[in-house]
Amino acid sequence: MNSESILYIIIGIVTFDFFFNQALDLINLKARKRNLTEEAKEFYDEETYARSQEYQSVRSKFSFLSSSISFIASILILALGGFGYLDSLLRPMIESELVLSLAYFGVLYILADLFSLPFSLYSTFVIEERFGFNKTTLKTFVLDKVKGYVLAAIIGGLLLSALIFLIQTLGNSFWIYFWVIAAVFILFTNLFYTSLILPLFNKLTPLEDGELKDRIIQYANSVNFPLDNIYVIDGSKRSSKANAFFSGLGKTKKIVLYDTLINNHTIDELVAVLAHEVGHFKKKHIVFGLFISIGQIGLMLFIMSLLIFDKETSLALGGSQWAIHLNLLAFGILYSPISTVLGILGNMLSRKNEFEADDYAKSTFDSLSLQKALKKLSVDNLSNLYPHPAYVFVHYSHPPLLTRLANLRK
Ligand SMILES: [Zn+2]
Repeated sequence: MNSESILYIIIGIVTFDFFFNQALDLINLKARKRNLTEEAKEFYDEETYARSQEYQSVRSKFSFLSSSISFIASILILALGGFGYLDSLLRPMIESELVLSLAYFGVLYILADLFSLPFSLYSTFVIEERFGFNKTTLKTFVLDKVKGYVLAAIIGGLLLSALIFLIQTLGNSFWIYFWVIAAVFILFTNLFYTSLILPLFNKLTPLEDGELKDRIIQYANSVNFPLDNIYVIDGSKRSSKANAFFSGLGKTKKIVLYDTLINNHTIDELVAVLAHEVGHFKKKHIVFGLFISIGQIGLMLFIMSLLIFDKETSLALGGSQWAIHLNLLAFGILYSPISTVLGILGNMLSRKNEFEADDYAKSTFDSLSLQKALKKLSVDNLSNLYPHPAYVFVHYSHPPLLTRLANLRK
């Protein structure tokens, strides 16, 4: 295929993706119910409900504005050959093709981050602030950025170097070798996320002695879950929104409860949330998810191996010659329809897993306490009670509140 056709396909994909997401956002916004419904009256008051409507609407408008600007910027950069231009600026300065690719992605990363900075500042310090969610100080924000940069440089730099080195030395069969590296990396991250990465951003502390711990011990013993794996995280450092999650495998497995969750829920509700997380472990959702992501990466690398040596693809982005980094970039866009479909399938599986974890909490602890906790979480986070089914189908990793409640009442 010639470079011009490839460019049209790339622009077509970016354009379709933009309009597809805007259409979904729009029908989702239209699906809102203005007035408090009978069902919601039970746990929402008029004022909070109105605030949640306002929050959805402000977030949607902001997302429309930011994605429109980034869509226009992407189209301009693609049409004017901006990616190739950056390559032609860096190329005379750098001898080694490997270093050139690393520098190229480094510069692109910084430019993209600077571009998104005003949006992320506005989202945190204006929107989240206005609705009382923001607890991030400017200092935490800056430190997070710095840590993010260092992590991206180390982890991204190492993985990218390995990938480019394998492409250069092995040719087409690079993908099998890099697949092994990626699989080991994912396994490692899963094992050590809560002990290596998370402590860089948050403080993890074992559960304090007291009634909550006693009740959790009681529950944990009843289902054979080791208690020393339950931690509390200082989520309140960034946001008042609450959460809990499960992470790790085998001996490194941990259930992490946000301090914001503990502050706002009764002991019964907390044990119910914990029971839900234990359910994810007992039903082997984590291990299964790991195999799926390793499989997906294999597929992605294989398809990458079919495109990575094509000179026309580099020319399509405005390059003057074949360059690995230009082809990687183009591949990222060309592959995005496949990753969208895989993402939808992944969300379907995740929603099924959520029902299973809810059922586990219901059968080993108590359905009513979990229902109360879920309602409280939804109200405190001003979540959308009536998302459009099509929006849920594409974007939701968790079933909407009312569907979960119906399932728990069964
Ligand atoms: Zn869950």
